Amino acid sequence: MSTIVGDWKKFICRACGVIYDEEFGDPDSGIAPGTRFDDIPDDWECPLCGVTKEDFALYEPGSATAVAPGEAPAVVPQKTGVVVVGGGTAGWTAVEALRALDADVPITMVTACEGDRYRKPELSIALSQGKSPELLVSERGRDCARRLKVRLLSNTYAVGLSPALHQLRTTAGTLHYTRLVLAQGARPAMPDALPPNLCWRINDLAMWSGVQRALAPRPARIAIVGAGLVGCELAEDFARSGHSITVLDVNERPLAALLPEQASQRVLESWANQGIRFMAARSVVSVTLADESVGAERIVQTQHGEALHVDLVLCATGLGTQSYLARVGGLEFKRGIAVNPLTLQTSAPDVYALGDCISIGGEPCRFIEPIAGQAEAIAHSSLGRDHAGYHHQPPVLRVKTRSLPIVMRGAPSRELAWEIVEHDEHQLSMAQYRNGNLVASLDVGQRKARLAA
Ligand SMILES: Cc1cc2nc3c(=O)[nH]c(=O)nc-3n(C[C@H](O)[C@H](O)[C@H](O)COP(=O)(O)OP(=O)(O)OC[C@H]3O[C@@H](n4cnc5c(N)ncnc54)[C@H](O)[C@@H]3O)c2cc1C
Repeated sequence: MSTIVGDWKKFICRACGVIYDEEFGDPDSGIAPGTRFDDIPDDWECPLCGVTKEDFALYEPGSATAVAPGEAPAVVPQKTGVVVVGGGTAGWTAVEALRALDADVPITMVTACEGDRYRKPELSIALSQGKSPELLVSERGRDCARRLKVRLLSNTYAVGLSPALHQLRTTAGTLHYTRLVLAQGARPAMPDALPPNLCWRINDLAMWSGVQRALAPRPARIAIVGAGLVGCELAEDFARSGHSITVLDVNERPLAALLPEQASQRVLESWANQGIRFMAARSVVSVTLADESVGAERIVQTQHGEALHVDLVLCATGLGTQSYLARVGGLEFKRGIAVNPLTLQTSAPDVYALGDCISIGGEPCRFIEPIAGQAEAIAHSSLGRDHAGYHHQPPVLRVKTRSLPIVMRGAPSRELAWEIVEHDEHQLSMAQYRNGNLVASLDVGQRKARLAA
């Protein structure tokens, strides 16, 4: 094993954004500090989402990290420059990419939250790991702003946009920009039958913290509405934390939009082993309080007249991008802010967008992996630097269910049939082919080699 000190490299998990830093290793998985990435055993898994070494890529954050903490004032007075809307992964990654290219360009970040940095994918596995909100934050927004010489307007909403005047209206006043980067993410889509005051959603740290507090006193009965990626991950995480889980979905099976039937069947078997109950083909028609007392039971009513009495209802029915800002700014919007697939420029001059809020060819792609490439393209394009542009690739898709890891690679098509490549009681491998060429692959469960290890 090589132990040369210094010149440590970092590697990023393309599935969830975790960074393996050679200097610090991964002691929780038995990888000592100072272990070179090449020396990590091949069966090592991403500590967050469980993908293997081959899903990690070299991570070079650029000169952004060279700005020492405390070197710059938190507030940099400025009239123009780049304004970034949103302090999530996309917003901060764009800031880092801009700073790496230009140490001096004035940058202002406008964000509705504190701007604290955390890995959102961790929210669906953090409860059973006993994490606290403080542990999930990797860097406070104000510290990151100081490090990257950014004027941070936290708890501030962007509420209006005039591309013609290069003006962004915010709840803290109107800002002028030379370039605008929109990274305001997407919001949970709440069906009408689920009143927001009675149903939790988990799409940011504040929401997760609320759920964590609500579940802290005792084991609870939880109804999760929606058996998509987030619903499935939360079901397992909450069940592992000792709660009693019922998942309801309008489809006949979990992950119906993503997986072939045989794979969903494996999910159901795994849920049965964990005591997670699935109610298929159910529409929730109402959620009401059993009485007026604080913390009263919720009654979830289905279209068949069933009534579930639970302590907490969690809505996991997907995300939608808010169109308001795009609409007032006259930006093209197709299930997300429409962007040029190479430059990430919107239909308005000098306005770019990335992350969960965009769509490419009318398709949103709400994953961590594409964000770094999008930020690079925006930084180069907006600063007038040469760049090959962004090339969209379907990200590796990982369902972070530890009892039944699921990994999908490639670009599956609804028109193509899934063929079984290999299967036994522990694992199912499937693939889609077009004209004999592999289009997508799917692995459900543990490979025998890993089980034995
Ligand atoms: C529970 C869960 C698990 C996930 N697991 C995975 C996974 O395993 N792998 C993976 O690749 N992806 C995963 N994802 C998706 C991934 O986390 C997102 O794609 C990514 O975090 C999106 O980053 P973003 O910055 O575009 O959006 P967000 O993180 O939503 O950030 C949006 C920012 O904009 C701000 N904002 C919103 N509106 C305004 C406004 N009007 N004015 C100013 N600011 C505003 C918000 O405060 C926030 O700071 C998961 C998501 C969730 C919810």
